[in-house]
Order: sequence, then structure tokens, then C-alpha cells
Amino acid sequence: MRKITIFGSTGSIGENTVDLIERQPDKFDVIALTGGRNVTRLAEQAIALKAEIAVTAFEDCLGPLRDALSGTGIEAAAGEAAIAEAADRPADWFMSAIVGAAGLVPGLRALKHGTILALANKESLVTAGPLLLSEAAKHNATVLPVDSEHSAVFQALVGEDIDSVERIIITASGGAFRDWPIEALEKATLAEASSHPNWDMGQRITIDSASLFNKAMELIETKEFFGVRPSQIEAVVHPESLIHALVGFNDGALMAHLGPPDMRHAIGYALNWPDRGHLPVSRLDLEQIGSLNFRKACETRYPALRIARYVMETGGLAGAVFNAAKEQALDGFISEKIGFLDMARIVEQTIDQIETQDGLRCDMITLDKVQQMDHLARQVAAELTRNTA
Ligand code: NDP
Repeated sequence: MRKITIFGSTGSIGENTVDLIERQPDKFDVIALTGGRNVTRLAEQAIALKAEIAVTAFEDCLGPLRDALSGTGIEAAAGEAAIAEAADRPADWFMSAIVGAAGLVPGLRALKHGTILALANKESLVTAGPLLLSEAAKHNATVLPVDSEHSAVFQALVGEDIDSVERIIITASGGAFRDWPIEALEKATLAEASSHPNWDMGQRITIDSASLFNKAMELIETKEFFGVRPSQIEAVVHPESLIHALVGFNDGALMAHLGPPDMRHAIGYALNWPDRGHLPVSRLDLEQIGSLNFRKACETRYPALRIARYVMETGGLAGAVFNAAKEQALDGFISEKIGFLDMARIVEQTIDQIETQDGLRCDMITLDKVQQMDHLARQVAAELTRNTA
């Protein structure tokens, strides 16, 4: 039996992971499940999967979680520290699917077991890629990508030498506004940005897909995870979302990974790795698909891509600032204080301001430095949000 812990089990990635585990209950022994405010669902999952412990991130949710688990023998706990402690319980496979910077610490703690960390939480790589990967190496742990694009690249690289890679092309659906006139984006509403043409995901990542901030994060993630140069990484708009990524080799070959837009493929690949298991995802019917389309990922329409290039070139703590400013600006958009295009302006201004005042370069990234920068960037971005609102 493989021991499993899921951080963020009540979210979109978490639910898909639970779905795969529920289909093979004899294969997995669930240790810990963590969630946020949706304690009803967290308790249901914990009971169905017979988890040892269920942890909510929020202290005020502990009472309802305890009530929902009463009589089951399943432990209940709450708070950031309790999530980190859940990571200290030994497991063979950890899913990192908390949304945002809160996902970093549990993932780092889980690496200490020297087992597998399936990484959906892209913020971990964007904010602290070198730290996460050096911790993994130190403890002989394996980090497997769960973002569909990075899972696609990972799969295309099986048996290949990274030195023979010329370029990595990450595809983007183009999000909700890919066909809108650029001038109309200024007035895009929260409801309009919250619906994705191809994927069914959490609200934050859906809005990040409309602005392409999600793709910007993925470009940075690609640089960190695969250790390639920024100039080797490209983004292309592919409206069908069937090719997730392509890897170009120095002999001119281009390997594409195709699959339906269903996260259970990438999650299931990581769950069964290094084998391939039978997965309940639909099979592509190429005759029905007929054709695949590609367009330039225009940096005027999607300023997040331009900012990502700057972050990749700058390195150091630029990713931590970028992510925190993006999360803060996204909060401003979700609470309808700022407009859609203001998000990119606030992120860019936050990076500029902090770079001028404090500098972004840093020889060795530590958790303390990342958290300090995260805090500072949120303050700066919050101030800019207030001035914009
Ligand atoms: P969701 O918003 O759907 O779920 C997030 C999870 O984190 C939920 O379990 C939520 O609990 C929990 N959570 C929220 N706030 C906190 C907090 N402060 N501390 C601890 N836990 C918290 O997100 P997604 O599943 O969409 O995304 C998760 C991660 O995976 C993100 O980093 C995203 O970028 C990445 N990702 C997502 C993809 C997708 O298809 N959705 C694809 C590739 C990557 P609750 O709901 O109970 O409040």
C-alpha cells in the first residue's frame, strides 16, 4: 500500500487526485488530507478515504471540522503549523495542491522524507525554485510536475539528455479573452474573466489564465524545473488545449504531448510514476479534431509574458516578488477594486519599486528571504492597489 498525503484536497487538483485514489482504494493508504474553508467536503473525503488526520488551514474552521469527524476516529487539526506538521507524517507520495504561496512550506517539509512530491503548486517553483530543488536533492526526494504543461515536457524528456534540448514550447489556450479586441480588455469584468474556454479549474487560476499570468508562472516554472535558459522557453497560443507542450531537440525533432484537457492525466502520471496506469480520461479522436491551431502569444495583449521574461532573466528573488504582487493584484481584481489590466501594471510597478529600493538579486535563496520578500511585495502591491482603486 502506498502512503499518500494530499495538501489542498478540497480544491480542483485535490478533488481530481481524490477521484483517482477512490478508484483504487486497495492501492493507497491515506495519511493526511488538508483543506481550507470547505470543511464539510474535507471531512467527507477524510471519511471516504479513511485518512489518519484532516487539517484545515483556518483556526476558526476547527470546530466544524471536529463536529463533522466526531465518532470516526479521524484526527482533526487547524492552522498553518498543523499543515506543516501533517507533512512530517511519513508518506510515500505527497500531492502539493494548495493554492498560492501557502503551498511552499508543506512541500518543503514533505521533501525531508526523501519520497515523491507531486507538485501542482506552481508558486513553490516560481518563488523558491532553487531552494525547493536543492532540498529535494539533499533528501534524495523526487519532485514530479503536475502542471499539465510540465508533465508533458517531463514525459517528452524520458530517456533524453537535457543537453540535447534546443527549446521548450509551452502552449496556452489564450484564456477567456483570446478573441477580444485589445481595447476591450480594460473593461473586462470578474464574471467574464472567471470562465475558461477549455479547462474546469479553481477561480484564481481561471482568471490567471485569462490574463496569461498563469502562463507567465509556467514559463518561470519551466526555467526552474528543467534548468534551461529563458531564451530556450517559448509560449504559443493553441486554442484547442490538446497539445500541452512541445520539446525541440538539437536534431530538429519536435516532440509534442497531446491529451484531453483533463488534469487527471498529469495527476495520474505522477501517481503511477515510473509506471503508466490505466486512467479514466477520454481518448482523443484525431479525425474528429481535424485540425490544430497556433497563434503568436502577443505580449501587448498579454503583458504578463513580458514580465515573466524579466523575472526569468533577473532570477534571485524576482519570482517571489512577482508571485506575491500577482496574488495581491488578483485579490484586488476579485474584490472588484481594480480593473483587469491593472493587475499587470501593479505587478510590474511592484517589481520596479522593490528592485530600485532593495534589489532582487540574491546568491542563495532561503525560506526566510523568500518570506520577507513575499511580505514586502504584498505591502507594495496593496498600496499600489489602493492608489489605483
Ligand atoms: P483551488 O482554489 O481549487 O484549491 C486550493 C486548495 O487549497 C483547496 O483545498 C483550498 O481549501 C486550499 N487552500 C486555500 N487557501 C489555503 C491556505 N491559505 N492554506 C492552505 N490551504 C489553502 O486551486 P486549484 O486546485 O485550482 O490549484 C491548486 C494549485 O495547483 C495552484 O497552485 C494552481 O496554480 C495549481 N494548478 C492547478 C491546476 C488546475 O487545473 N486547477 C492546473 C495546474 C496547476 P478550500 O477550498 O477548502 O478553502
